[in-house]
Amino acid sequence: MKVLVINAGSSSIKYQLFEMPAEKVLAKGLLEKIGEENSQLNHFSDSKEHKIRTKVADHSAGMKLILDTLVAPQTGVIKNVSEISAVGHRVVHGGEEFTGSVVIDDTVIASIEKFADIAPLHNPPNLTGIKAAQKGLPKALQVACFDTAFHTTIPKVAYIYALPYEIYEKFRVRKYGFHGTSHRYVARRCAKIMGRDKYDINVITCHLGNGCSITAVKAGKSVDTSMGLTPLEGLVMGTRTGDFDPAILFYLSEKGYSIDELNNMCNKKSGLLGISGVSNDMRNLRDQALAGNERAMLAFDIFCYRIKKYVGAYTAALGRLDALVFTGGIGENAADVRAQVCENLEQIGIKIDPAANEQTVRKEGLISSADSRVKVFAIPTNEELAIAQDTFRLAE
Ligand code: ADP
Repeated sequence: MKVLVINAGSSSIKYQLFEMPAEKVLAKGLLEKIGEENSQLNHFSDSKEHKIRTKVADHSAGMKLILDTLVAPQTGVIKNVSEISAVGHRVVHGGEEFTGSVVIDDTVIASIEKFADIAPLHNPPNLTGIKAAQKGLPKALQVACFDTAFHTTIPKVAYIYALPYEIYEKFRVRKYGFHGTSHRYVARRCAKIMGRDKYDINVITCHLGNGCSITAVKAGKSVDTSMGLTPLEGLVMGTRTGDFDPAILFYLSEKGYSIDELNNMCNKKSGLLGISGVSNDMRNLRDQALAGNERAMLAFDIFCYRIKKYVGAYTAALGRLDALVFTGGIGENAADVRAQVCENLEQIGIKIDPAANEQTVRKEGLISSADSRVKVFAIPTNEELAIAQDTFRLAE
């Protein structure tokens, strides 16, 4: 069965075509700058990259271009788009309603629209992607996989904010958490590598990409996570603040900043970029830090310190910790971040093997020392595969 996985952003569509259940990637690509003059599609098939440059007016036209590319003689991997039986969509916010992936119908679409209120940057483009796929592949089964779904097992004690309770009752303001598909994937992969059942082990998973979050997974279920109502809470990220005193907002508002300016500041101008004044990208930041830029070094240190604090907190929340997993662009590649996070954590059973850590870049591997009670792993995430697996299961 051919399963197409779609991740639609405001001006982009990322896709992968899988042969299931073999889990083989037949083709993948990224269409960017939708709606601009110079839209670009980078398509990979047969380990070749094809660059297609043409104006793409909207997501529907984008989906058509992708489907045409998948069947074209030069770039294609299938004869007819009717071979695609199902499409799995990444959807960011599923609120309290969706505890797992679901087949999309009108009720599901209405719910995704409803949660756009809390996720205005993500749900509307996700929905546009769904509608474009429905139009381009009217016979295929459409499935939604929510970033929030894995976290619906978090208990009330961890998800209720200490605001007046009616704020939760009236507006459903609570912790939801994100990156759920990634946390679930690496936690399960970790159990597999350890030769254990996922229900037997407690794991802390650190997803460190442009957005960063950390999750406590107890016996296969998420019991706490660092992102909240929105992806702003928790760890320091490329351009987002993570945790800070909310009274800062009232104070800055009195100093003349508007709500829009504060929103933009906290989401787009803070984090690694805000502290360093240099870059939101860990590679640039590290280069600058090594060249002696003190604020770049400070941003790096704050980034690692925040993760370390959460590892301690979640170890306490779990009671017993069996494994710590790093994933995402930073988690998979930045051995220096992993080393700094794990420094002086022997008391809670975490000890890194420096050589194994250095060697484990962009691949799966154990990076803790033989005498580390807690196993530490770097595990490349694969959200697309997790979505393809869910979609295939529902399609079957
Ligand atoms: P996204 O969250 O958008 O999917 P990624 O998971 O690709 O992003 O993560 C992007 C981050 O990973 C960037 O900060 C980038 O600098 C960082 N990164 C990628 N490769 C490396 C590397 N070799 N060393 C350190 N950081 C890296």
